[in-house]
Amino acid sequence: MAHQWQGVISEYRERLPFAESDPIVSLGEGGTPLVHARALDERTGARVYVKVEGMNPTGSFKDRGMTTAISKVLQSDTQVVACASTGNTSASAAAYAVAAGLKSAVILPAGKIAAGKLAQAIVHGAHLVAVDGNFDDCLNITRALTERYPVALVNSVNPYRLQGQKTAAFEIVDYLGDAPDIHVLPVGNAGNISAYWMGYNEYAGRPTIASLDESAAHMPPISTKVPQMWGVQAWGAAPLVLGHPVEKPETVATAIRIGNPASWKFAEAARDDSHGWIDRVTDDQILNAQAILAAEVGVFIEPGSAASIAGLLKAAEAGKVPEGATIVCTVTGNGLKDTATALGGRELDFDPIAPTPEAAAAALGF
Ligand SMILES: *Cc1c(COP(=O)(O)O)cnc(C)c1O
Repeated sequence: MAHQWQGVISEYRERLPFAESDPIVSLGEGGTPLVHARALDERTGARVYVKVEGMNPTGSFKDRGMTTAISKVLQSDTQVVACASTGNTSASAAAYAVAAGLKSAVILPAGKIAAGKLAQAIVHGAHLVAVDGNFDDCLNITRALTERYPVALVNSVNPYRLQGQKTAAFEIVDYLGDAPDIHVLPVGNAGNISAYWMGYNEYAGRPTIASLDESAAHMPPISTKVPQMWGVQAWGAAPLVLGHPVEKPETVATAIRIGNPASWKFAEAARDDSHGWIDRVTDDQILNAQAILAAEVGVFIEPGSAASIAGLLKAAEAGKVPEGATIVCTVTGNGLKDTATALGGRELDFDPIAPTPEAAAAALGF
């Protein structure tokens, strides 16, 4: 039988806080493609790969952390998982709750979720509660609920989420043979940049932040170096760039519309320890990067994901990309989740032609 990827816990169990006998909930997450993006080589002078996290079971990297967070819930009596979400966390939590036989509750900001993501939470049977507030309000409410009721919090403040998410860094090193020189990724709540930094450090045999897994520190190093971490926020939701929370975050990239990141300190540590930076890009730069990846690379990503590409292109224009560097950009979520933004109001009704090959040939200009 051909080998099938077994999901991140089975593939990396020796580096995760799970014993062989622990119950595992997996939908086969991880093992996502690392695609060499020649169009980005040409635009930056570097060698650029995109880690296509939209290929995960629910279409975003959130699944890597949900398999670990929800597998841990199975070790308790808790029957309900809850999250605050701008979309992808709810889609992932709802799907993994189904797989685990648990109920899920989603606290979301009213009117600010891409239709595809909401559809996922609904079809997976999540109990949705819309709040007249922003994401940060929703997270505060969810935290309070999980403190008072028998409900498990599966937002990225749950440390097992970051444990699962760090496996993306392992996959990149396993594929490239060593760590890249630079890793670029979008930053919202800042869990993912913290998780990658943990994963890269662990594989290099360096001390890591926030690691729950003591045993990993004693394993032989696999990589010889760690990358610079470059984080990218949206212009109207850039607390880490500004150095203070943003009261009313605004951006077309709803996945990173966050004004007060939960993993603020870890993200700053990743930036500073790696000699990297965190910058911001405009909505126009984000949508332009999304279009370039779709039209020149062949990968359709959601706007939040495109922040990484936009940040790389901005750095290239400023002459900040080292010639020939190996760069990995995480593209965090699938473009199909938010087709309305991608189409940008373009008309979808056509003038039909006569049903003949001749008419089709004429329409195509042959
Ligand atoms: C969650 C998410 C992000 C932001 O990740 P953080 O860990 O919150 O920084 C970016 N892009 C997509 C598509 C996401 O779902």
